[in-house]
Amino acid sequence: MPELPEVETTRRGIAPHLIGQRVSKLVIRQPRLRWPIPANLIRTLPGLRIDAIERRAKYLLVHTVSGSALMHLGMSGSLRVLDTGTPPGKHDHYDWQLDSGRLLRFTDPRRFGSLLWQPLGSTHTLLASLGPEPLGDNFDGDYLWGLSRGRSASVKTFIMDQAIVVGVGNIYAAEALFAAGIHPRRKAGSVSRARHGLLADAIRRILEYAIQRGGTTLRDFISPDGVPGYFEQELYVYGRAGEACRNCGSTIRSITLGQRSTYYCVTCQR
Ligand code: ZN
Repeated sequence: MPELPEVETTRRGIAPHLIGQRVSKLVIRQPRLRWPIPANLIRTLPGLRIDAIERRAKYLLVHTVSGSALMHLGMSGSLRVLDTGTPPGKHDHYDWQLDSGRLLRFTDPRRFGSLLWQPLGSTHTLLASLGPEPLGDNFDGDYLWGLSRGRSASVKTFIMDQAIVVGVGNIYAAEALFAAGIHPRRKAGSVSRARHGLLADAIRRILEYAIQRGGTTLRDFISPDGVPGYFEQELYVYGRAGEACRNCGSTIRSITLGQRSTYYCVTCQR
């Protein structure tokens, strides 16, 4: 599933091909994605110039003078820039044709992705209650510590709550907790201020590293048969149940927390 680093890598990959271009046509082959694509987008988008592309949580916002398109990759979606005339495949659900002669194509076998519209001056309901960006200036250990006081939820559930901070997926949560030495089941409210600082730093560092690694595959976004090179990180705990901890040699364990598998080292994480 595309996580924040893959979405950010996608943004960086497509932005140079889109910014400054006008949309000449929107082709929708399958409007029934996670939510239906608004039918009037076929009339709204053509003629608009793409001014900027921003990422908010796992949404890409394509800004124009009239408003912003919201794109989400869902479980299996990808965006590629191709030459107009490239024949669509079975799972290619929409194309933005551009004045440059290229197109932005959305491919999604499972159809959990989305294409929505946010008129200028409004905030889409999907974005309204999101917490701060983990790589932004409003996120640090003191912020986490302040919100965690009195919370009995596990610290892992806490950092995966999109209202607390966005984009910390299951893999990154497990890896950040390992890096900070915090047991995933510990109550968020019982983690000290100093350790919240370590945790916030670990979240930031791990996501930045993943984005940096994803950046090596940007050329794939303009390859006709290219598949986005989703980031595969050297993982310390995630998916390693029964294997030896890379730090201390103890056996990595797996538990279910908030209906998600999580992995940790009994020795390194307290
Ligand atoms: Zn260990």
